Amino acid sequence: MRTTVAIVGGGLSGLYAARLLTDLGIEFQLLEARNRFGGRILSVDAKGDLSPDGFDLGPSWYWPAMHPRMARVVEDLGLPAFAQHSEGDVVIERSRSEAPRRFPTMRQEPASMRLVGGTGAIVSALVRALPAERLHPDVRVTRIAMQDGGLHLSLRAGATVNELVAERVILALPPRLLASTIDFKPALDSATLARWGQTATWMAPHAKFFALYDRAFWRESGLSGTAQSNAGPLVEIHDATSASGSAALFGFFGLDRKQRLAVGEAALVNASIAQLVRLFGPPAGQPRATLFKDWTADAFTSTEADELADGHPVPDPRSWITGNWASYISLASSETSATNPGYLAGALDAAERAVQETARRI
Ligand SMILES: Cc1cc2nc3c(=O)[nH]c(=O)nc-3n(C[C@H](O)[C@H](O)[C@H](O)COP(=O)(O)OP(=O)(O)OC[C@H]3O[C@@H](n4cnc5c(N)ncnc54)[C@H](O)[C@@H]3O)c2cc1C
Repeated sequence: MRTTVAIVGGGLSGLYAARLLTDLGIEFQLLEARNRFGGRILSVDAKGDLSPDGFDLGPSWYWPAMHPRMARVVEDLGLPAFAQHSEGDVVIERSRSEAPRRFPTMRQEPASMRLVGGTGAIVSALVRALPAERLHPDVRVTRIAMQDGGLHLSLRAGATVNELVAERVILALPPRLLASTIDFKPALDSATLARWGQTATWMAPHAKFFALYDRAFWRESGLSGTAQSNAGPLVEIHDATSASGSAALFGFFGLDRKQRLAVGEAALVNASIAQLVRLFGPPAGQPRATLFKDWTADAFTSTEADELADGHPVPDPRSWITGNWASYISLASSETSATNPGYLAGALDAAERAVQETARRI
């Protein structure tokens, strides 16, 4: 199979790159290793299955004033949004020896916005608008070789190995994952490889926990659902009730991957429920379901180097590729954004830059 542009990765950046190439009338094929699109965006129901009215195991929020491109894309796709629930008191748990205390809420400015149906709504809307025959889930790229004037991509779909020849490639996966999972022939220069390997994949070290309830009981007692804790295992908790009214709380763990593994998922879930009871009262002890997603266990997001949390990525205007490959490949994942690295907005910025570079070169 031949194509003008191969897009590797069907997360937000890959899908948005596909949309921009479609607008420019440039032919492409998009290859996605997972059996679903969205990458770190993952909205699921109480059983953990993909859902159009889901809870966000990946990103939940965007900030329109800070991220105007994200706001514009949401609007262009006709996606309704709503503000993160933050009315009511905040609970602070300073230590296990002190009872948690409630404080009047600090008004959140600018408001964090959520998409109705979950962040997965943006993925479904982008996929719906793209030509289905150009989107290939369950296809992992393992190698890219420059030969006979083309880029030969080795594709793995289950046990089947195939090849796609492209003029240019947009790599829409985190640089660190790219450096450790795709072989380049001829080899990339050492400066490029080192920089990719040193670029932390935003949020890859983290795990999210959800407790789903029949009603948002904490709101009835004037609590916002927001809590901070030094006692753990959750350090930051928020109301995750869906726009359709399915009540939920979610939290991030204060333990790194090794610590989470040592405790084990079942014990972590039990300890999280016990903590929610301390923070929000006895009804928190009876969730109708729980959800747990450890992103370090996901080989299409994390590498060993992502086991420990790094700080938020900072914008870095240097070119992501030096040497022979620089005119043939472009990086599009959020981490490579020169303005909003790590954020959903960064995935859109980086995809646009990668498409502009690619369009100039064909
Ligand atoms: C828990 C969590 C919370 C977050 N919260 C927020 C938030 O509230 N707000 C915010 O702005 N951002 C948040 N983020 C970050 C946000 O999710 C990312 O910035 C964004 O989704 C990145 O999109 P991407 O397309 O660049 O990368 P990804 O979503 O990582 O997409 C890369 C894609 O490449 C695919 N792939 C990997 N290897 C291969 C291969 N060899 N061949 C083919 N395909 C491959 C992957 O399967 C994946 O689909 C959060 C992330 C996480 C994990």
